[in-house]
Amino acid sequence: MVICAPEASPAPAGQSGEGLLAALDIGGTKIAGAVLDRTGRVLHRVQRPTTGQGPAQQVFRAVGDIVTELAALPQWERVGSLGIASAGPVDIGRGTVSPVNIPGWRGFPVVDRVRALPAAAGLRVTLCGDAVAMTAAEHWIGAARGCRDALCMVVSTGVGAGLVMDGAVRNGPTGNAGHLGHVTVDLLGDPCPCGSRGCVEQLASGPSLVRRALAQGWQPSGQADGPGLAADARAGDASALAAFDAAARALAAAVAAVATLVEIEVAVIGGGVAEAHDVLFPPLRRHLAAYAVLPFAAGVRIERAALRADAGLVGAAFLAADLEPAGIG
Ligand SMILES: [Zn+2]
Repeated sequence: MVICAPEASPAPAGQSGEGLLAALDIGGTKIAGAVLDRTGRVLHRVQRPTTGQGPAQQVFRAVGDIVTELAALPQWERVGSLGIASAGPVDIGRGTVSPVNIPGWRGFPVVDRVRALPAAAGLRVTLCGDAVAMTAAEHWIGAARGCRDALCMVVSTGVGAGLVMDGAVRNGPTGNAGHLGHVTVDLLGDPCPCGSRGCVEQLASGPSLVRRALAQGWQPSGQADGPGLAADARAGDASALAAFDAAARALAAAVAAVATLVEIEVAVIGGGVAEAHDVLFPPLRRHLAAYAVLPFAAGVRIERAALRADAGLVGAAFLAADLEPAGIG
C-alpha cells in the first residue's frame, strides 16, 4: 500500500481519549453497528442479517435492535455521535434513503426514525451513502490517507464511488456525488436498471462479470460465481480472463475520466471484485495507461482498499463526528 503522506501521525494527539463514536451500516443483506474510538478502531461490533424485504417497519426493527444492543454497552454513555451509512440512493438533506435492494424503504426517513430511538437521545445523527462512507474511511485511516485528491470505489454487487477533493470528502447536495457506477462508458451498451445504458456497473460489477463471462462461453471449473471466475482466470481460462479484461477496461475508462475531470492522485478500489486484484489490477493499470494520457492525469495510481467489511462503519462514524482527516500533505 502506498500512502500519500507516509510521515503523517496516526491521529491528532489527544483524540483517542475523548468521546467515542457510533455508526450503523445498512445494506440489503445485513445491518451492522459499532462503537469506535476517535482513531477509527472498532471497539464493539454487532450485525444482523436482513433480507431487505418486508414492510418498512419490519426492516427498521433490525436497526432499532442494533442500537439498543449497542446502548447496553458501558461505553455508550461516552458516545456523542451516530453516523448512518446506507445503500443508496440517499438524500442527506432530508435524511431519507431509498436503497434499491430494500424495496420497502422509498424516501424512508431513517435519520428521524433513529433520532426517535430512546437510546439515540442527545446524539448527533447524520446520514451518508455507503460508498461515500467507504471513501471517508479510506481517506481517514486507509489507502487514501494523506491524499488531497482521490477517488475511492467499491466494486461488488454494484459499483459505488466517492470523491476526496481539496482534502475533504465531497458528496454533493444530496450526498450522491461520485456515483461512478452509473456513468456510461459503453455508449450503445446494455440497458441498466437505473434507466441509462452501458453503465460502469453493467460491465464491472460481480454479477455482470459472471453473466457476461457465461454468455461468452465461460465453462466454470467450479462455482459459477465471482470467486469461481477469478479462480479460472488465475488458471489461464481465456473466457474468464476476457471478462476481467472487459471489466478492467470499463473501470479504467471511469478512473481516467475522473482523473481528467478533477485531478486525482490515487484511485482506491475495494469490494468483493477487488478481492481478485491479482487478475483485475494488471489489465486495469494497462488500460488506464491508454486512457489517462494527459500529463496531469497520467500519474494516477491504482491502490487496493485497506479497509474491508468495516469501511462503511468507520467512514460513517468519522463523518458524523465531524473529525479532521490527519496528515494532508
Ligand atoms: Zn446505470
